[in-house]
Amino acid sequence: MEETYEALLELQDLDGQMRQAKERVKRFEPELEELDAPVLQLEQEVGAARKRLDEQKTELRRLERAAQDKRAQLQKYQEHLERARNAREEAAAHTEIDLIRKAVEADEDDAMSLMEQVTRMELKVDELEKKLEEIRSETAPKREELVTARDEASAQLSVLKDQRQNKLVRLNEDAQRLYTRMSGGKSGIALATLTADGACGHCFSMIPIQEQNEIRRKKALHRCEACGVILYTED
Ligand SMILES: [Zn+2]
Repeated sequence: MEETYEALLELQDLDGQMRQAKERVKRFEPELEELDAPVLQLEQEVGAARKRLDEQKTELRRLERAAQDKRAQLQKYQEHLERARNAREEAAAHTEIDLIRKAVEADEDDAMSLMEQVTRMELKVDELEKKLEEIRSETAPKREELVTARDEASAQLSVLKDQRQNKLVRLNEDAQRLYTRMSGGKSGIALATLTADGACGHCFSMIPIQEQNEIRRKKALHRCEACGVILYTED
């Protein structure tokens, strides 16, 4: 029984260490998020600028195609003009030609201003990408440090988990079940000392004298009737 108590206490200690290790692992997440936030922000900005640039380029190609089509039409009406048989046909062809010329000019003006916008957007994308690169390399050392520390904490946690498992399987089945149930409870406390005046060290209910004596003799596992923890005495 002595050994069982010892193993249970070690288990409880391991559980405490595991809780702390879990906390340590968790603490890195907000730090990493904070570190990554400006990077993510810039990535989004770069993405949005690139998308806008693509749209502008598509629009530019469309305008260029439209201008081309109109130039072909212009060609056609110029041929009409050459083949005009009278003043009326000539005038009609002139009217068409003027209209199309104006439309071509308008398209070309639009294309020009769009080209300027494309140039500006390309500069913006370049600038944002440069900024992103900068901020990535600025934060990289700190990020690596945090990730390494977090991975170390995770590794420590898995070592503790293994130790706990090894310890747990060596217990007899009753003790195993009892410990698992109690340590998985709300308080996470499976064992508490019997106080000098004979109370449960966890909930402070008084323990009957007879049971106090049995607990002191360590012949079997005794639980507090009020809160269920396994009671033990320190030598
Ligand atoms: Zn109790």
